[in-house]
Amino acid sequence: MHEFFIVQNVIKTVEDLMVNHPKKKVVKAVLLIGRFSGVEPELLQTALDFFKQGSVLKDAEIVIEIEDLRMRCQKCQQEFSKEKWDLTCPFCGSFETEVLSGEEMLLKSLELVDED
Ligand SMILES: [Zn+2]
Repeated sequence: MHEFFIVQNVIKTVEDLMVNHPKKKVVKAVLLIGRFSGVEPELLQTALDFFKQGSVLKDAEIVIEIEDLRMRCQKCQQEFSKEKWDLTCPFCGSFETEVLSGEEMLLKSLELVDED
């Protein structure tokens, strides 16, 4: 279960951040998932619901954003995005392209409020 491991990592990251904000609590967390990260959003949601109980995210709304594949052509230096896995440059047809983002999964932002 790839997703369970990811969620545990996200919670650990948030816990580490919250050490610097002892009087605050998390009300919202935005996760960014690359379309090609291999993460199933539904499984991720299930894992989140399971692990957030009793964690720093227990009262937080969790938003999952899907990010398309961002690429750059090394031949003509154009940047472009793809919805499916295709490494061809749409401008010059070159295969000398590199993936900039869209393969990863990360914590994009956190919203904190004072704990009451
Ligand atoms: Zn190109």
